[in-house]
Amino acid sequence: AVAGSSPAMKQVKLEKESELRIEVNVNSPLRLRLLNGTAEIFGTEMPPENWLTFPPRMKFAIFTWYGATIEMQDNTETDYVADETPMISYVNVHAVLEGRRNRAKASPSDSDASQGPRVIVVGPTDSGKSTLSRMLLSWAAKQGWKPTFVDLDIGQGSITLPGCIAASPIEMPIDPVEGIPLEMPLVYFFGHNTPTVNADLYRVLVKELAQILERQFAGNPESRAAGMVINTMGFIDGLGYDLLLHAIDTFQATVVLVLGQEKLCSMLKDVLKRKPNVDVVKLQKSGGVVSRNSKFRASARSQRIREYFYGLTNDLSPHSSIANFNDLVIYKIGGGPQAPASALPIGAQPVADPMRLVPVNINRDLLNLVLAVSFAKEQDQILSSNIAGFIWITDIDIPRKKITYLAPSGGELPSKFLLMGSLTWIET
Ligand code: ATP
Repeated sequence: AVAGSSPAMKQVKLEKESELRIEVNVNSPLRLRLLNGTAEIFGTEMPPENWLTFPPRMKFAIFTWYGATIEMQDNTETDYVADETPMISYVNVHAVLEGRRNRAKASPSDSDASQGPRVIVVGPTDSGKSTLSRMLLSWAAKQGWKPTFVDLDIGQGSITLPGCIAASPIEMPIDPVEGIPLEMPLVYFFGHNTPTVNADLYRVLVKELAQILERQFAGNPESRAAGMVINTMGFIDGLGYDLLLHAIDTFQATVVLVLGQEKLCSMLKDVLKRKPNVDVVKLQKSGGVVSRNSKFRASARSQRIREYFYGLTNDLSPHSSIANFNDLVIYKIGGGPQAPASALPIGAQPVADPMRLVPVNINRDLLNLVLAVSFAKEQDQILSSNIAGFIWITDIDIPRKKITYLAPSGGELPSKFLLMGSLTWIET
C-alpha cells in the first residue's frame, strides 16, 4: 500500500457455525463491519452494517450461527476462518443455565431454590476462560438477565486493573471493543499479579467479596436468580489448585466448567463428588484461543493501566494533583514482623503476619507506583474495604514534602488511606 493511504478492503464470507479469527495488527487498528447475515463477537451480536474499530493487538473471533459476510480492512496480523469450534457445547451450557435461572425465578420465596446458577470457569492459562465467561454473561444479558461477573484473575482480569479481584453486574451484552463497563464495580486490591506473594490475603479478599455479594443477593431476587459467572486464574497447580478449591467453596459454586485439561477435571470431580449439588463439566478449549507469552501479558497489564487513566482511545483526561505528605497515609498489607523481636520470647523468630497493615514511608521509591484508594474511613476498616479507584505517583518532592499524582478526575480523594502493592506503570 502507498504510505498514508488507507488499507485495502476485503470481504469474508462465513458459512453457518464458523468463525473468523483475527489478530489485529500491532501498530494499527482494524475497521470492519457486518455486511449481511448475523454474527456475534464472544456472545454479543454485531450491529448490522455499522463500522467497528478494534484497537491494535486485539485478538478475537466473529462467530456466525447462520452465515454472514464481513467487510474488513486487509491489514491484520492474521485472520482466518475456522469451521471447527466448541460453540455448540458452550451454548448448550448456556441453555442449561437458562433453565436453572428460570427455575430460580419461579420460586422467589425459597432461599435455596431462588438462587440461580453459580458458575465458575477454571482451566490453565490461555484456555479461553475469560472468553467463555464473557459469552455466558452476554448470552444471559441478551435474554434480559443481570448476572454478576466475578473476576478473580489478578493477572489478566477484565473488570479493572491487574492485581485486583472484582465483581460487576452485567446488564447488557458486553461491548466487543469497550469490554466490561467500569461504572460501579466492586473492587478489592491485592496489589500483585501473582497470589504467591500473599496467599492468605488473597483468600481473605475472595471471602470479603463473596460475603458482600451474598448480602446483595439477599436483597435482590433478580440478580440472585441470574446467578454469577466467576472467572479464575490460570494458575492451577499447587497453591493455584488450593485457591481454586477455596473459591469454589467460598462462592458456593454450583457449576464448575473446566476448560482444556483432563487432569484438573478429574481431580475436581473427585474432590467435589461429596457435594451432590455441584456439577463439574469438562469443556473443549477453542482452537482459536491465542497463547500469550509473559512479555505479551506484561504489556497487556500495562495497557490496562494506561486505559484506566487515558481511556481506550485516549478519550479521557486524567487530572494531576499535588498533596502534602501529611495528607496521605500509605499502607502495604502483609510482611514485616508481627511484633518487634524484643517483644518475643527468647529464641522465637519473628514471623511475617500476612494481614498486617504496614505503614509506608513516603520517599522516591514510590515513583511510578499505582496505588489503590481505599473506601475506608478509619484505619481498622482498610482490610475489609473495597477500593474507589487508583492513583499513579508521578513526582515526589522530598524538600517540599509534596507528592504529585495522576487520578481519573480532580477533586479530593474519597479517603486519605492508600494501598500499595507491586503495581507500577511507566508511561510509554
Ligand atoms: P488467562 O488465564 O491467561 O487469563 P484465559 O484462559 O482467560 O487466559 P482468554 O483470555 O479467554 O484466555 O483467551 C486468550 C486470548 O485468546 C484472548 O486475547 C482472547 O480474546 C483470544 N481468543 C479466545 N478465543 C478466541 C477465538 N475463538 N478466536 C480468536 N481469538 C480468541
